[in-house]
Order: sequence, then structure tokens, then C-alpha cells
Amino acid sequence: MRLGIIGGGQLGAMLAEAAHPLGVATRILDPEPAVCTARAAEVVYAEHDDPKALSGLTDWAQALTYEFENVPLEAVQGRPGVWPPPEALRIAQDRLHEKDFFTEHGVDTAPFAQVSRVQDVQEALAKVGTPALLKTRRLGYDGKGQALVHTAEEGRQAFEELGGVPCILEGLVDFRRELSVIAVRSADGDVRVYPVAENHHEGGILRWSITPAPDLKDRQAEAESIVVRLLEALEYVGVLTVELFDVDGPLLANEMAPRVHNSGHQTIEGAVTSQFENHVRAVLGLPLGSVEVLQPVGMINLIGREPPLEALLAIDGVSVHRYVKEPRPGRKLGHVTVQGADRVTVEHRLEQVQALVREHS
Ligand code: AMP
Repeated sequence: MRLGIIGGGQLGAMLAEAAHPLGVATRILDPEPAVCTARAAEVVYAEHDDPKALSGLTDWAQALTYEFENVPLEAVQGRPGVWPPPEALRIAQDRLHEKDFFTEHGVDTAPFAQVSRVQDVQEALAKVGTPALLKTRRLGYDGKGQALVHTAEEGRQAFEELGGVPCILEGLVDFRRELSVIAVRSADGDVRVYPVAENHHEGGILRWSITPAPDLKDRQAEAESIVVRLLEALEYVGVLTVELFDVDGPLLANEMAPRVHNSGHQTIEGAVTSQFENHVRAVLGLPLGSVEVLQPVGMINLIGREPPLEALLAIDGVSVHRYVKEPRPGRKLGHVTVQGADRVTVEHRLEQVQALVREHS
């Protein structure tokens, strides 16, 4: 079987690596793939919306998927064999559409309001309250394109600083913790939901994550009900991730990613079937695999700089994934999975890896 992947970052590489053992050949479309991607798959060097390259991929592969959500919509809309459905991409590319979609399907969110013009700031603040976050509707990621706002004056200034582009204003949520739920749906409607992960961010970037999140209780069932509703609504095929805020009261959805997700990297070693393999299976119409996580598993991102490989490998229970990228502040260069027989052991090892990361940042 053959799979085309739009996007040459580490997620594309990990999808290609998951495809190998199944005998699935992969081709990745990217003008400039990461080194790890060029090693993992055949690369078609062209822009993500290059019509000729896309048609070539469609003709070659049984299915075409994508590994980032800013794929130009025109590249995939109306093209046969593209999964997840381009409609999911359309919604996820715009924070306002995303929040409206959650609301339509009975999924709670932070209070939000549209800010299309600077004159909208005052009314939006009155609706959502302060403090609030002003976010660009499109092209924001890892905390970029956002500003914290306390007053209308700050809001107007932030709107101009964000470029005067269409924005959404969100009430600042005083959450207990951040969670994510990753699920996969096959073309014939089989759905599997991984145990919910607890995620820790700094400066808007995911630093580390643990699966299953401690003390989940009924939050697992609640998260499942949210993600299943969204999967069904979209007649979705592939992996979908929903980022959640754990607060007093129902879980709040922050955003969704129609793709494999950083908070699921630990499923490579930690789950019976990784998010990457399940995504490959789903988009190719193969049966899904078990999402069971047999023991707690952690993940730490290597951001900006990497500790020496020798030091990381000297810690028991770690698996190192390097993306072989040029170091740059804020850039994800790799991740480390941390396994252990129980939560205490995993947390201790996570702390050891974190100490190394801090020492070398
Ligand atoms: P996002 O780009 O929406 O994923 O936001 C990046 C990070 O900013 C999230 O993981 C949260 O830590 C934080 N954040 C985003 N939206 C809110 C909000 N409405 N209230 C509080 N924190 C938020």
C-alpha cells in the first residue's frame, strides 16, 4: 500500500516510520523537509499546494494525509482520498470556526467573541470579561499570535500589534491543568480513544506530558464523549486531538488538531498501537489497533537546545527521538519518552530528564 503525506516535519517522519513495519510505502511532499523526514520517506520536493506534485501523489497513493494544520485548503478540498476530511482542516484553521463548531456540538469552551475591527474590542471585552486573551483567528500556534489583555486600551493596542487581522477574544481560564484527548476513527466508524494526557506548557509551548493523566476519574469518560461527538459530526477518518482545560465544572475545549499530536508521542513506546500507526491504519482503511497504555508513560520535548545524548541515555527507561534540526530558540529538536513500572518511577525519571534539559537550556 502507498500513503502520501503533506508536510515534512517530525510528525510526517514519525508517520512514515510507523508505516514501514506494515510494508506501507510513503512519499512526503515538502519544499524543505527536516533531516529526519528525508531519512524516513521518499520526498517530493515541492510546495504544499503545488498542483502537479499533489496530483502525482494522489495518482501514486491510496490515501493522502497531512501532518500540519496550515495546509492550504485549496490543496486538499475536492481531492479524492484525502483523510482526515478537509472540512476538519477548514474548521481547525480558524479559531472562531473551531469555537463555533465546539459550541454547536454541545462542547463547552472559554467565553469568546469575535474581534474583526478595532472598534469591536470594547464590546468583546464586555462579553468575555477580563483578563482575556486576544488571539489571531488564523496561523497562531505554540502561543504565537496571542496577547493578554486587561483593559480596552490594551486590547486595541494588542489588536494593532497583532497586525489588525481578524481575531478572537477569549476569557482567560483559571484552569487546574491542561489535558488532551487523542482518538482515532476508521472509515467504517470504529472509534478508539487513548487515555487522556496531562500536559505542561511554558510560554505557550508543550514542555512535558504524562499518560494517563493522574486522578482522571470521570474526566476520561467526559473527554471521550467530547471527542466522539466531534469525530461523528465530521465523519472523520484518522487521528483527532482535542486540547482541554480541566476546571471546576465541565471540561472546556481549547482547540482541536486534525492530526497526530505532540502530547501523543509517548504512545510510540507506551501504547499497544501508537497514534502514528493508528493514523496510518485509519486513512488506509485498515483495522484499528488497541489504544491501551499498559503503564504510565511520560514525554519531554527538547526545545531550543539538546542535552548531550550520552547523558540522556544514561537514565533508565528513556527513549530518545532526535529530529536532527538546527538548534534555534523555541524550536522542537526532539523528544524523550520516559517509561517505568509505576507513576512514581516515571515521575522520578521525568524529573531526571528535566534536570538535564534545564542544565542545557
Ligand atoms: P493555544 O495556541 O490556543 O493552544 O494556546 C497556547 C497555550 O496558551 C495553551 O496551551 C494554554 O496554556 C494557554 N491558553 C490558551 N487559551 C487560553 C485561555 N483561554 N485561558 C487560559 N490559558 C489559555
